[in-house]
Amino acid sequence: MVKVESFSLDHTKVAAPFVRKCEVKTGEKGDKVTKFDLRFMQPNEEFMNISAIHTLEHLLAGYMREVMDGIIDISPMGCRTGFYMIAWNEVSVDKVIETLNYALKKVLETKEIPAANEVQCGNYRDHSLEGAKELASMLLKKGISSEIYK
Ligand SMILES: [Zn+2]
Repeated sequence: MVKVESFSLDHTKVAAPFVRKCEVKTGEKGDKVTKFDLRFMQPNEEFMNISAIHTLEHLLAGYMREVMDGIIDISPMGCRTGFYMIAWNEVSVDKVIETLNYALKKVLETKEIPAANEVQCGNYRDHSLEGAKELASMLLKKGISSEIYK
């Protein structure tokens, strides 16, 4: 079995919500890519509703790119406790938290889900703007930390 970085994290020792800088990879030509965990829910205690995480995925995709350059991807974790994010260059955790706070505040003001239609989404009926707003307000209230451990 190949060693996977995210499997080396002890999920019983962390305290969500937090942003974790997982690794910085350097390509053959010297380009760097940084990978983050955006962990919103406490592992094995809570997880996001599927419609809400889907809507949050659509919203974070646009809002985070409004204030941060070089974002390659933001994707939901299969366990539904958070998102993965990868970006060009070496990026600080503080920059990601600042970007997330901006994006989550924008979620609260959102009236329409972008790209929630048959052409632009693979399951456009499965969305919950209300659910995404509940998650955003919970995260803003708790405060996303740069400290990972309890
Ligand atoms: Zn979609």
